[in-house]
This record gives sequence, structure tokens and C-alpha cells, in this order.
Amino acid sequence: MVLGESKLGCYQGETIYSLLNFSCQRFLQAGVASPRLDAETLIADGLKVSRTALLTHPDRILKRSEVQMLFARIERRVLREPVSHITGVQEFWSLEFEVNEKVLTPRPETEIMIEQCLKVLPKKPSLVRILDLGTGSGVLSVVLAKEIPQSRITAIEKSELETARKNALRHGVIDQVCFLAGDLMKIDWNGPYHLIVSNPPYIESEALLMCMPEVQQYEPTLALDGGRDGLNYYRFIVPTAWKKLDKNGWLVLEIGHTQAQAVVALIEGCSRYQDIQVIQDYSGYDRVVMARIMDG
Ligand code: GLN
Repeated sequence: MVLGESKLGCYQGETIYSLLNFSCQRFLQAGVASPRLDAETLIADGLKVSRTALLTHPDRILKRSEVQMLFARIERRVLREPVSHITGVQEFWSLEFEVNEKVLTPRPETEIMIEQCLKVLPKKPSLVRILDLGTGSGVLSVVLAKEIPQSRITAIEKSELETARKNALRHGVIDQVCFLAGDLMKIDWNGPYHLIVSNPPYIESEALLMCMPEVQQYEPTLALDGGRDGLNYYRFIVPTAWKKLDKNGWLVLEIGHTQAQAVVALIEGCSRYQDIQVIQDYSGYDRVVMARIMDG
């Protein structure tokens, strides 16, 4: 029998339907949070068909090579590797982005950052200058560039820029984004800008040890660790950003859901910002803090 050879054990069938059920059970046992969705995503992506096609052709008999390839994927997920690392892509703002273990996989709640930026950006068709601090996979820069064709974006990242560059190319905005390699706490940000955005590392160092295995074992610590209280980057960005903002310029920051008060206090303490706002994500958690540079 083809399938009995697998170290994944007791799998008996060889149709899409049976493989879906098998992987769901394996994921459930392994403590995966969304077993059905992950099984469908990994199998559909592996077979290069849509998730709908899986469900409309459950009786399709899989080839031996396909089963082996899918088993390898299932096994990686059982070890709690993120789905995005196995497929190599993640959807964000309805666009597909390349991701890997070197960059933080974009989270759906980060789309709130884009929504808020689009609200405050100048509507006039003249050049809009934007700075993205710690761009990672490049999602914020790429989506803003696509949404605002008259924008020019500077994107800073200290770990690697290859993935962000590929994503900018993939979405046709490479000419709008200038990538700067370096530590945002050390290099010159250039400027001035109409908008400064950042989704910096904001997890408390100790809390990182308690994150789900997907995050703790597979995602880049550099993109997550915000120091002892998670606020290191805000402590640097808030008092630095106002010097690089144009008249009416906005600072838009993603935050951890317990950090709104502390980040607002940093912004108030700086005495250079006004219109401070805290915005919730769709789960009702505080997710974005934003403020406008003071007039005059
Ligand atoms: N939202 C991410 C998580 O909870 C953290 C992102 C960050 O530190 N910027 O895994």
C-alpha cells in the first residue's frame, strides 16, 4: 500500500477527501488552532488548485507522488511550522506576498494600519512622502505604494531586504520604494515625510518565550522582541519622528493590545504631537496609535 509507508501512520485512503480528514485529525492532535482551514490551504496549495476545487472534487484519486508531497507538508505543520512558511506566501490586503523565516508573516490586523494611513494622507494628487520603519516583508510599503500611486516611500530594515524587494517587484511598485538597509535606531531616516509608519517589534522579551510554537520557534525574534517591556522601539521612534515630519504630518504605529496607554503617554510626554488617537482592530483590541505633528 502506498500510504502505509508514511511515518504519519494510519492513513488509509488516497482521495482528497480522505487526506483532508486525515490531516485535520493530525492537526487537531498537534494543537493547531485552525485545523480544517490549514488542511485545506496546504493541500490546495500543494496540488496547485483552489480550495473550492478541493471541496468540489473530493473523490479525486491522488498520485503516489502527490500523497508523498502532501504528507511532507502535513508533517511540517504538525511540528507547528506556520502555514505561510510551508506555502511561501501570505495574503494581505487581498494581495499575495512572499514570506519566509527571515521576515515576520504579515498579520490580518496590520491592515488597520493601512486603513488609518489612507484616512489621514493628503488627498491632493501631489507627491506624498512616506517612511516605513522596519519594513520586514514590505507589506506596508507595497500596499501604500499601490494605493497611493503618487507616493514615494523610504523603507528601512536591518535584517534583510531581499523579500521586501521581491514583493515590491511582484506588485509593480519597485520604482516607488527606496530601500535602506540598517538599524532604524542608528541610520539617518532622511526626510521630511508626510507620513511615518511602523509596525516595530513590540512583544515583551519574556512573553516571547510563552508565544505559540509557530511564533516562538519559526518567526524571526528580531521582528518581535521589543525589549523587557516591549516598548523599546516606541521610546526611540516617538521623540525622533516629529523632527522628520512635515507640517500636518502623521505618525502611525502598530502596538500590542496592552500598550496603548504607555505609547500614548510617550507621545504626550514628547509635547510635539496633537490629535492622538487609539484605534481598535476587528477583534476589538487596541492596535494602532496615531498622532499628528503640532502646528507651528
Ligand atoms: N502581532 C505580532 C504577534 O503577535 C507581533 C508583531 C510585532 O511585534 N510587531 O505575533
